Amino acid sequence: MSNITESHKRVELRGIGVSPGVATGLVFLMTTEEERFVERDIEENEVAREIARFEEALIATRRQLREIQQQVNAEIGKESANIFEAHLLVVDDRALVEEVIRGLSVHKKNVETVLRIVADRYAQALLRVEDDYLRERAADVRDVTRRILRNLSGVSSSGLANLATPCILVANDLAPSEAATMNKKNILAFVTDLGSPTSHTAIMARAMNVPAIVGLHDVSIRVSRGDPVLIDGSKGVLIIHPTEEDLESYGKLEASRKLIRTGFDLLREEAAETIDGYHVLLSANIELAEDVEKVIESGASGVGLFRSEYLFLSQKNHLPTEDEQVAAYERLARRLAPEHAVIRTLDLGGDKFLSQVKMPQEMNPFMGWRAIRFCLAQPDIFKTQLRAILRASHLGNVKIMYPMISSLDEVLKANLLLDECKDELRSQRIPFDEDIDVGIMIEVPSAALTVHLLAPHVDFFSLGTNDLVQYTLAVDRVNERIAYLYQPTHPAIVRLIQNTIDVGHRHGIWTGVCGEMGGNPLMVPLLIGLGVDELSVSASLVPMVKDMIRKLRYSQAEELANTVIALESADEITRHCRALVERVNPEILELLT
Ligand code: PEP
Ligand code: MG
Repeated sequence: MSNITESHKRVELRGIGVSPGVATGLVFLMTTEEERFVERDIEENEVAREIARFEEALIATRRQLREIQQQVNAEIGKESANIFEAHLLVVDDRALVEEVIRGLSVHKKNVETVLRIVADRYAQALLRVEDDYLRERAADVRDVTRRILRNLSGVSSSGLANLATPCILVANDLAPSEAATMNKKNILAFVTDLGSPTSHTAIMARAMNVPAIVGLHDVSIRVSRGDPVLIDGSKGVLIIHPTEEDLESYGKLEASRKLIRTGFDLLREEAAETIDGYHVLLSANIELAEDVEKVIESGASGVGLFRSEYLFLSQKNHLPTEDEQVAAYERLARRLAPEHAVIRTLDLGGDKFLSQVKMPQEMNPFMGWRAIRFCLAQPDIFKTQLRAILRASHLGNVKIMYPMISSLDEVLKANLLLDECKDELRSQRIPFDEDIDVGIMIEVPSAALTVHLLAPHVDFFSLGTNDLVQYTLAVDRVNERIAYLYQPTHPAIVRLIQNTIDVGHRHGIWTGVCGEMGGNPLMVPLLIGLGVDELSVSASLVPMVKDMIRKLRYSQAEELANTVIALESADEITRHCRALVERVNPEILELLT
């Protein structure tokens, strides 16, 4: 790398470090499909060739859409398959096709450019129409245009699944579905313009245990493919064309952090217990069933959150069948028994979308048709998953958890569907755990304020602080511009957590924390002091959190909680949390992002 570094200007950028560690390597720049198509002038004698390319791309697009439609029809049903009829209508829209062909001679540009101009005009015109149905067709025009453009360029996917050499991935943004399907072996680090610490891309980076920085605003246009970069995911620092001194000083820094982390390896078999004997159940969050091995290695007690939607996101063209789901859940159940495997039912929407299921374009997807709302409206998809979880439950300690509950009614409806699934399995003599625990995520303020109504109907609560913070403070969790307002120690959040835990205990049920707050050593003493029973954190963070717990006295945590509950601001509360960690475990501060 040194030869290249010397001939270029060094640039240092700062973003939000979301996954710790130092990495150096060459940039792989991920561009969106639109960006990848270059505008090119053409001569009149090239028009015929461009038309031929366009016709070929239309044929390929039509064929692909028919294939997907057939697959969806077989696996999900006719109604979902009909969605693709609208896409086929766009491909067959002669007015659009002819306008593109005419545009080639008018604009004297390559077909990619003309198609984008024409399709954009179509979509804009549709968006201006009063009629809801027609407005939604704008999204169809955009989807189909993207597919035709892909077929024109021969690019079959974002290329992330086929990364052949180790690289540092730089992108404007990265969808969870892209993160789920990329070739993880060759990703040394992630860097994105957008994003925040609780965006699912950041969560994926921690799960993969690779350094990551988000919220760098314009890094994707400041670097070029192949540029050498150094990133420190702990400090949120990215250096383009690093010098020899940078490489050396960050190398030393990382070596000293590694030394601290090596000490954690000795804790693998130790209990997650404070010095004065207060035991916390320390579990792991995972996105993919194969990551269960990382959970075992981390020394966690089971899985407190399996984000099952990644099983769906990692399949390109179909929804996982009941049997495919059973295989994944069984793998977890068997490998973790007798420890628990909490399988959260499908939490789609927000920033997680499936290409296999058409979901409406919404102004506020995080507050829209997502998670349990989507599942209750799609009982076939939901019941397939519930049956699969039940079928796996007799092999281990499986628990079911519903996401994004906002009212009792949703719990009752979900439980009713669960009862139907149990009846079906009983009549088919398929074994399952009759006493399977059912819990809910407390991540919407209305749920946190009515836990007394919800508790009688469930076996446990798990605080999803990532969403709880965003909904309570009205701060979009993936918007880096307002990341400074995203404060898990806001007095409102501390109170909601306290209420949930206290009410849970009064009803004899346990409460965990599975949001990212639980994996932050600064917050661990506060959560323990508030009485949390379980912390479920990214597997890569388990050793650090265990170290934090073991250096603490429960009495100190209790005192901290009693003090901060009377404080007036997030900053003050954070200061108290930090002061305690500085006293009992100063080394750990070196490792924080
Ligand atoms: C949460 O909201 O805190 C949570 C754990 O769920 P997710 O991050 O998947 O929304
Ligand atoms: Mg959530």
